[in-house]
Amino acid sequence: MVYDFHLHSSLSGDAELGPVELARRAIVAGYRAFAITDHAALGTVPRVVAELRADVELARSEWGVPIFAGVELTHVPASAVERCAREARDAGAEIVICHGETVAEPVQPGTNIAAIQCGLVDVLAHPGLLTVEDAHEAARRGVFLELSSKPAHAVANGRVARVTKEADAALLVNSDNHLFDFLSEQRCRDVVLGAGLNEQDLDAILRVNPERLLRRLGLAVP
Ligand SMILES: [Zn+2]
Ligand SMILES: [Zn+2]
Repeated sequence: MVYDFHLHSSLSGDAELGPVELARRAIVAGYRAFAITDHAALGTVPRVVAELRADVELARSEWGVPIFAGVELTHVPASAVERCAREARDAGAEIVICHGETVAEPVQPGTNIAAIQCGLVDVLAHPGLLTVEDAHEAARRGVFLELSSKPAHAVANGRVARVTKEADAALLVNSDNHLFDFLSEQRCRDVVLGAGLNEQDLDAILRVNPERLLRRLGLAVP
């Protein structure tokens, strides 16, 4: 049972597989449900969402797997996160995630809280040196926080896990896959336990929280 809400296709510019091939490979890797969330900002949102949705709808209908088309708002000015998220929703994005303040890149400070507070972002990806205050706000607003399987971002996973747990916010494990770095059940376990969390946390992070997000995306999860 593997869920992943952060995958990149060639529409991202820095990833290699076209959306349909990416979807095919994810299904073969055992994914039960997933989202393709390509990098976008204000100018690219309409094109990326339109092209991605067409391919995702094709793969979803022909292969019968719940796949969602979204964007990862990436390096947009913190003051413009809300505007870009609105554009993405208006363009038909089914899920909106925001590229958080990873320690691996010079993301503008203030991006985390802008994403959490705008009310249009489902998942804050790799939030880096997340503060307890921001985690509390994420808990209040139902924004999911990410433990990244990608090594460069995973440097901060221990802190993200501790702060999120303290604030009682919801965690997900995502791959941030740009090629063949798909998640597996073993990899998900390793990310959760490696971040300092316990066996008792596994079910919430790897099943309960993904199912909650899927319901929000409109999927009837039994
Ligand atoms: Zn990328
Ligand atoms: Zn990403």
